[in-house]
Amino acid sequence: MPPNESQHGPGFLSQFSASEDTGEHFSPVPDGYQRGRTKFVVVVGTVMSGLGKGIFSSSLAKLLKDKGLTVSPVKLEGYLNIDSGTLNPYRHGEVFVLDDGLETDMDLGTYERILNQNLSRSNFMTAGQIYTEILERERRGGYLGRDVQMIPHVTGAVKSKLRQLAMTGPKGKQIDVVFVEVGGTAGDYENGFYIEALRELAFEEGDDSTCFVALTYIIEPAILGEQKSKAAQLGMKRLMEAGVQPHIIACRAKNAVTTKVAQKISMFSNVPMRRVFSMHDRESIYVIPDAMRAEGLDREILSILRLHDRVDTVAEDRARGVWSGFASRLAATRDHKVTLGISGKYAALRDAYASIDKAVEHCGIEFGAEVNIRWLDSGDVESLARASSALDGIDALIVPGGFGSRGVEGKIQCVELARTKRIPFLGICLGFQVAVIEFARNVLGWKDAHSTEFNPNSGHAVISELPDQKRLEGIVGGTMRLGAQDVAILPGTLASFLHSGASLVRERFRHRYEVDPAFVTALETGGLAFSGRHSQHPIMQVLELPLSAHPYFIGAQFHPELTSRPLAPQPLFMGLIAAAIAQREPSFAQTALGRRWVRSAAPTSAATSRA
Ligand code: GLN
Repeated sequence: MPPNESQHGPGFLSQFSASEDTGEHFSPVPDGYQRGRTKFVVVVGTVMSGLGKGIFSSSLAKLLKDKGLTVSPVKLEGYLNIDSGTLNPYRHGEVFVLDDGLETDMDLGTYERILNQNLSRSNFMTAGQIYTEILERERRGGYLGRDVQMIPHVTGAVKSKLRQLAMTGPKGKQIDVVFVEVGGTAGDYENGFYIEALRELAFEEGDDSTCFVALTYIIEPAILGEQKSKAAQLGMKRLMEAGVQPHIIACRAKNAVTTKVAQKISMFSNVPMRRVFSMHDRESIYVIPDAMRAEGLDREILSILRLHDRVDTVAEDRARGVWSGFASRLAATRDHKVTLGISGKYAALRDAYASIDKAVEHCGIEFGAEVNIRWLDSGDVESLARASSALDGIDALIVPGGFGSRGVEGKIQCVELARTKRIPFLGICLGFQVAVIEFARNVLGWKDAHSTEFNPNSGHAVISELPDQKRLEGIVGGTMRLGAQDVAILPGTLASFLHSGASLVRERFRHRYEVDPAFVTALETGGLAFSGRHSQHPIMQVLELPLSAHPYFIGAQFHPELTSRPLAPQPLFMGLIAAAIAQREPSFAQTALGRRWVRSAAPTSAATSRA
């Protein structure tokens, strides 16, 4: 690592000589940065959080991306954590892992899915990252005796990072539009420096460079039965007190915002009526981009930022065609119906499994299937009898990832039932590991089989932490395998069938333990196939049972849910839902979609012959 580079980020401070920050305007600009080339759309919430700022920003970004513009979103988090890796999914929703291994919050998943675009660590900023970099530089004497201050140093760092992000366009070009989502709401203590930094940025970048969008909320108290604008007005005031005049106001509300309310908002925040938008609840998040376009939100953004001449109308027509095809599948009647059980520790909280929920939704839309999810608390099903009643009426089972021992025995029981009762099964990460444990215990007869995560003294530690393995792979510092890696797929297997014969696929990992290679031969001889592996090392990444043993039994050491997109549902999920439909309706296997996704008795011998 170069001496002036922080371990927590791209070392943004390293590019600027110390003399640049001796003035009052600490405003470093990357080499080659062209002011005015990149435009910034800043989305700030008022009134309350939880309004779907991420969905709003990503839908808006999608509209501009569809017009042929390059876009890159960034989420600014006020918290002091460096990343989201240590956050409890109960409190904060799932941890979303990016291709480059950064652990972020679930909003980045929303951006990746809606934009159909991979993001990286430059798309996620926390106060903790910024302070750490600044304090590390301070200790190295990087501020030449100056007192280090919130303004200009912290705000300068934020601006600098945003401009660096602007530099990351394809072929070394600047991004057309950076979408900045400020976490929390205007007036929060912890995001104040972000709002100040953005105010400064807008000033420095000049006219037509930055568009502030205030996302507010119009309350409609049941006792009054009408919409009230005062909370929104007060929220807007907080933003204006911080020196930010919004250009656009988007009003979240239960019902369409009335003209009277829109007029009040317009008048009291200096925003013309044509720039006050009703963003009321819709039946699905996927119709939001079209709803925004119908109201002219994209047109106003183009005018404010003077972007009309960068629009590619041919690209826009094409993108709109693709999206409306998707939207029509969304609206089509659901001919099939399946019930999917998901057994997890955080069964109480959908947000904790947001990406799984979405991946399943993508498949449901693709197949025209209504997929009802039954959340099973694996902590409640420690016995086989309890598991059996919990799984009653279930057409498919997912055992998702997790850490810690609570509920592990329940998950093993669920896998045993899925295996013996031929219920289509997908094990994810910990779910993959418990499938190995279950097989070792109940097929190979190693009753003490376990993972060293839960029993360090097991005589058959089929899942174990293998530091040597990690060293070979060059995993340093932390012991987690994080981020995307290539997975080599064995030909002739279910995994290969699902991936249309691709020999390498790229998937995202977040785990510490893995299958101990010492047991692989015995497991394979017993009938468990490892059909996906690390391309160089003996690391098992996909497991499956042959068709002769089970219609659909597959597990992944990675997290397939993180790469599923509305326009490209993830194959392991597609296979699972297809198998579930085919179990209920055998004729489904003969349809075009069925032939693509349901493995039939075609030769799949390689899956078993490898042993
Ligand atoms: N606890 C397991 C491990 O660390 C599984 C992790 C997960 O499911 N994400 O390997």
